[in-house]
Amino acid sequence: MKLKYLGTAAAEGWPALFCKCEYCENARKLGNKDIRTRSQSLINDDLLIDFPADTYMHAVTNNLDFSAIKYCFVTHSHLDHFSPSDLFLRNTDFYAHNMTTPMMTVYGNGDVMDKLKKTIKLFGDDEAYPLIETEEIKAYKTVFVGKYSITPLPANHKHNENAFVYLIESNEGNILYLHDTGLLYDEVYDYLQKRAVSVGLISYDCTYVILESAGGHMGLDSVPYVRKRLEEIGVANEKTVHIVNHFSHNGKLTHSELCDESEKIGFLCAYDGMEVTVPMV
Ligand SMILES: [Zn+2]
Ligand SMILES: [Zn+2]
Ligand SMILES: [Zn+2]
Repeated sequence: MKLKYLGTAAAEGWPALFCKCEYCENARKLGNKDIRTRSQSLINDDLLIDFPADTYMHAVTNNLDFSAIKYCFVTHSHLDHFSPSDLFLRNTDFYAHNMTTPMMTVYGNGDVMDKLKKTIKLFGDDEAYPLIETEEIKAYKTVFVGKYSITPLPANHKHNENAFVYLIESNEGNILYLHDTGLLYDEVYDYLQKRAVSVGLISYDCTYVILESAGGHMGLDSVPYVRKRLEEIGVANEKTVHIVNHFSHNGKLTHSELCDESEKIGFLCAYDGMEVTVPMV
């Protein structure tokens, strides 16, 4: 199983659209891996996580066939994870010909479903409904799609809706995808321990970078704690790859500096376009 990071910034992007802070200006100057777009990942070539406004550029810059995507799992309705207006372009009358896979299903919580419905209503009509199906999902209720078993787990994030992090399992490897979330709830550790599941890759929210973390996001100060707890219950072992991702410009560090700081605590640092083969553990 492969995971490709398409966007690795927090909500504002890095450089942020309207920001002239020294860290955004520095990113503009450095380019390359210091340019971070909004949060999205692709697993193999058919399973997408989240649908931000940068989706179009993710498809173009990575030369990806987005018409081959069958499943789109949305973590929560924040705009950097779900900006659904471009889903309207899955309309075969004008915008999408010869698609590799004619149908894509969008999975998410009730707020994600509401946002999607409102957007489709705004842009389309009954005759021009885009080729998507939708399925509302619930925490701890595993969804079986293709070769994947995907379990939404409650995220410590956006507490006015049921935000999810995901456990993604397949016979090619397992991933724990922790975006967005602060420190995980005890019940999530309990669930994972009861399931006796081990994962080859864990992707950690690291929005705060070197700042002190709090609330619904983590930083370099809190990810080792989550890692340790996951190791203690056997979810992670010595083969597991630990990656920090979802960075805010307020966190200051360049990509190269962030790589150094991450490495010191045993983590890899994500960048836009990074592809990782998930080890079997
Ligand atoms: Zn986010
Ligand atoms: Zn900035
Ligand atoms: Zn969020």
